[in-house]
Amino acid sequence: MAIRNIVKRGDPILTKVCKPVESFDQKLAELLDDLKDTLHKAEGLGLAAPQVGILKRVCIVEYEGEQFELVNPVLLKQKGKCVDNEGCLSVEGFRGWVERPKEIEVGYYDRHGKYHTIRAEGYFARVFLHEMDHLDGILFCDKMLRKVTASDYEK
Ligand code: ZN
Repeated sequence: MAIRNIVKRGDPILTKVCKPVESFDQKLAELLDDLKDTLHKAEGLGLAAPQVGILKRVCIVEYEGEQFELVNPVLLKQKGKCVDNEGCLSVEGFRGWVERPKEIEVGYYDRHGKYHTIRAEGYFARVFLHEMDHLDGILFCDKMLRKVTASDYEK
């Protein structure tokens, strides 16, 4: 296990469409373990393989103490819309307001090649969608309505 460097915005790696995982091997397990270590050090909610320079459809989400390893994730269903504030370990200096589906269902494989589905809503859904966007070369700032500013929180 190892902590990898997080690629920052401006690096063309973050704009590429990632390739599906075809073999559920030791290399995949190592990538998932490294993503976890790197995420813990950075204290984020999720991390995608392209953020450590690997163009594979792999990401992890950690939300309220639960951990999800997503290999080849696909958005199966979506419902509603909501706007909330998000940031990214690859985007320094600002957060943005982003509109996303409110409720989703995602299908994905785990490190052993077993298929799962999960339903999520609200901010939990948002973390999945943010990480899955990375696999298509999309950053939150590509689709944000505007940057979050201090005055958003003043009354
Ligand atoms: Zn991100």
